[in-house]
Amino acid sequence: MNGGRATVLVAGAGIGGLTAALALAGKGFKIIVAERAPRLEEAGAGLQLSPNASSVLISLGLLSSLETSAIAPDAVSVMSGPRGSELVRLPLDKSSPTAPYWVIHRADLQATLAAQANAHPLIELRLGCELENFATTTGGVVVNLRQGTTPQRETVAALIGADGLWSAVRRQLDPVIQPRFTGLIAWRGTIENRLPLGQAESPRVQLWMGSNAHLVTYPMAHGQQTNVVAISSGQWHDQGWSVPATAAEAGAAFTASRWSEPARAIIASVTQWRKWALFTLPASVTWADGRVALLGDAAHAMLPFAAQGAGMAIEDAAILAECLGDTNDDVATALKRYTDLRRERVARVQNLARQNGRIYHLAGPAAAARDFAMRLLGGRRLLSRQNWIYDWRA
Ligand SMILES: Cc1cc2nc3c(=O)[nH]c(=O)nc-3n(C[C@H](O)[C@H](O)[C@H](O)COP(=O)(O)OP(=O)(O)OC[C@H]3O[C@@H](n4cnc5c(N)ncnc54)[C@H](O)[C@@H]3O)c2cc1C
Repeated sequence: MNGGRATVLVAGAGIGGLTAALALAGKGFKIIVAERAPRLEEAGAGLQLSPNASSVLISLGLLSSLETSAIAPDAVSVMSGPRGSELVRLPLDKSSPTAPYWVIHRADLQATLAAQANAHPLIELRLGCELENFATTTGGVVVNLRQGTTPQRETVAALIGADGLWSAVRRQLDPVIQPRFTGLIAWRGTIENRLPLGQAESPRVQLWMGSNAHLVTYPMAHGQQTNVVAISSGQWHDQGWSVPATAAEAGAAFTASRWSEPARAIIASVTQWRKWALFTLPASVTWADGRVALLGDAAHAMLPFAAQGAGMAIEDAAILAECLGDTNDDVATALKRYTDLRRERVARVQNLARQNGRIYHLAGPAAAARDFAMRLLGGRRLLSRQNWIYDWRA
């Protein structure tokens, strides 16, 4: 389908929705982005953007603006939680300056994308505007929105549901599907300035593995903050990304009998915790039907243990724009092609994330065998196992 000023409505101004808006506007489409939140808040914490994702953002002209807020760590240190020492270091190669490995505060990335969208003549960003439902007709999609108390109706050529885990678009497209609680909770916090112990001189991602729990840290905000995410099992599973939590709940799985002093010092240095119950979607979600398609978490919410939640949404956006921008296809064919191009790769990443979680949380002899195998393989070979993810280009 040719952009030719046809209008596409994107529901959700998260990372996926805003990237899709920019990519589609680049193909000549007029875009309405309807975002439920009245303002783009500082909710959330850090995200990792591997080269497969950073390359898409750079192709959208965001290199110079993202370089001011993103940090390029020089390595991922895999740490033994019980022993407190580094098991293996995966060097993040900087030999490809056009596609760096970045860590960034989600709010900074979203603000950068939103600024670029606001400056684009083909994009209209409506905040405080919730998608309520839609109906497809022969010539388009009628989308019912509500901005405050005012109902709005738009008839558009295509509707893209980038409205996250609890997607209203998916609810209508595939009503049977429900997000599943995984029994895992992410506890998130930040430490001002530097880590008290175990922090490397250069910026680095640290992954601490321990029995039935793990911990990830990396620098953010020009190195002024360290992002801390602790994952452990639990029953609590309300919705929301930033529910306040106590230090006692967050630290409960990180006991002195199982976790070394340096790891526990990281936990103890966080002054304010937030919690986020981890839900996933099954691979059977209907991604597209006619002129309506899903993107990002709305289609494939996954565990964050491959650090690819944002990355897959960004890749989706690039491929969606390629397919819709193809002048040979009508909208439904283009959206079907988008689905066909994305499903298999995303399912593979979802599986990897699940598998990583099991490996990170091993205990006893299985953990010892894992540590031995990781040391034997070494950082470069471990990293090369991610090539199929990181080397992807739109
Ligand atoms: C507030 C928030 C904080 C997060 N923090 C982190 C974090 O710290 N670390 C991490 O790894 N991941 C975090 N995530 C998840 C991460 O952003 C996503 O996994 C990934 O970026 C894929 O994004 P997405 O665009 O598909 O969905 P999301 O980022 O979830 O964005 C969906 C957007 O759609 C909007 N929306 C929902 N329903 C409607 C509707 N009916 N009409 C209009 N708009 C609607 C939401 O308000 C949201 O802005 C967070 C998500 C959110 C929403």
